[in-house]
Amino acid sequence: MLKAPTVLAGTLAAVLATSAAAEGELNLYSSRHYDTDERLYSDFEDATGITINRIEGKADELIARMSAEGANSPADILLTVDTSRLARAKNAGILQSVDSDLLEARVPGYLQDADNQWFGFSQRARIIFYDKNDVTNPPRTYLDLADSAYQGQICIRSSSNTYNQTLLASIVTHHGAEKALEWADGVVANMARAPQGGDTDQLRGIVSGECEIAVGNSYYFARTIRKNVKGVSDQRDMIGWVFPSQNTVGAHMNLSGAGVAAHAPNRDNAVKFLEYLASDQAQQYFSAGNDEYPSVPGVGLAPSIAALGHFKPDDINLSEVAKNIPEAQKIFNEAGWE
Ligand code: FE
Repeated sequence: MLKAPTVLAGTLAAVLATSAAAEGELNLYSSRHYDTDERLYSDFEDATGITINRIEGKADELIARMSAEGANSPADILLTVDTSRLARAKNAGILQSVDSDLLEARVPGYLQDADNQWFGFSQRARIIFYDKNDVTNPPRTYLDLADSAYQGQICIRSSSNTYNQTLLASIVTHHGAEKALEWADGVVANMARAPQGGDTDQLRGIVSGECEIAVGNSYYFARTIRKNVKGVSDQRDMIGWVFPSQNTVGAHMNLSGAGVAAHAPNRDNAVKFLEYLASDQAQQYFSAGNDEYPSVPGVGLAPSIAALGHFKPDDINLSEVAKNIPEAQKIFNEAGWE
């Protein structure tokens, strides 16, 4: 189960009470682009008087840009998706440690970098989908995906995809590199087709009959409930889903998260913004905007994501998982996972 509500003095009001006198600017480098994020920014600006300047781009481009700008970078915050990218940003030396009692109290330890260089503000589960008409006994764990019983049935995207890299890194962390390679070999042998497209395309593969089983992030499916997604929403009833590994480690969780830039010119404002993101209200906007799970325990779920039901998330420390991403990349290559 996602954890029960915890009452902490980290409410929006508490955050903002300490920042009433603050003003100035905040330069936000963001790879998020959801409509509800607008509300997130305007509420922060109204409450603090701090003006947010947004620089939007693809995650890897923003990381490269901050690296190139070096000490002259105007960036205060990097906001991006996927544990592997947060780890890459840290390894590139473009983030700095943040010492905040509020963030420590609000964001569970396993969703933070060990050196407090990044914090996860929403979560996505990587889950198994299947054709309810064809599959009576779907895989129940990630390891099951490598079972020869599913030969020719599985659709999953390429190994260059960061979600798969983080998933495999978590398998390395739980089971070791040898078992992880065996797993990757098994999944490659079970693929219904060469990896192609994004997570939504794997769901479309179930609808078209190309795939019996697909792997994808929870929010892609929840989105098909919230709005009409072509090629999935009107056939959604044929798709079943499994939160994997419920009797063992729980479903693999990935993150949307942020950190303070190494050379942030407005460091205080940047820390305030992170603390604001951990408030109940911001958590709700931030997670609902992309049909994700809030990071802060006790914050309500958007209806689209609540519809997927309760489950046990894997609470392995994602900072530890991130260390195994280079190993995961090697394993993908060795297994010939395109
Ligand atoms: Fe995505």
